[in-house]
Amino acid sequence: MLCVNQDHCLGCGACVIVCPVNQEIYPEVIGGNGPDTTDVVMLVENGVIKLFHPEKCVTCMKCNDTCPTKAIYHKGD
Ligand code: SF4
Ligand code: SF4
Repeated sequence: MLCVNQDHCLGCGACVIVCPVNQEIYPEVIGGNGPDTTDVVMLVENGVIKLFHPEKCVTCMKCNDTCPTKAIYHKGD
C-alpha cells in the first residue's frame, strides 16, 4: 500500500515528476509542471504531498528512491 508521511514531506514534487503512472496520465509532469488534474496518483497540494489515486500505483518504487526524506513509501504489499 502506498503511504505518505506529510510531516516529513518537503513539497519538492520530485516524486510527482518521477512517477511513471503520473507521466502517462499527465505527460507535462515530466517537464516539472504540476498536474492540473487529480486523476494522478499523487500531487503536491498546499506544500505537501497528497495521495489521490494510490490504487493506480504500480509499485515501481521510483518515488521512494527519489524522495529526499522517504516521506512516500510502501507499507505491506
Ligand atoms: S511506486 Fe507507485 S506512486 Fe511511486 S513512482 Fe511508482 S507507480 Fe508512482
Ligand atoms: S514525498 Fe518526498 S519527493 Fe514527494 S514532494 Fe514530498 S519530499 Fe518531495
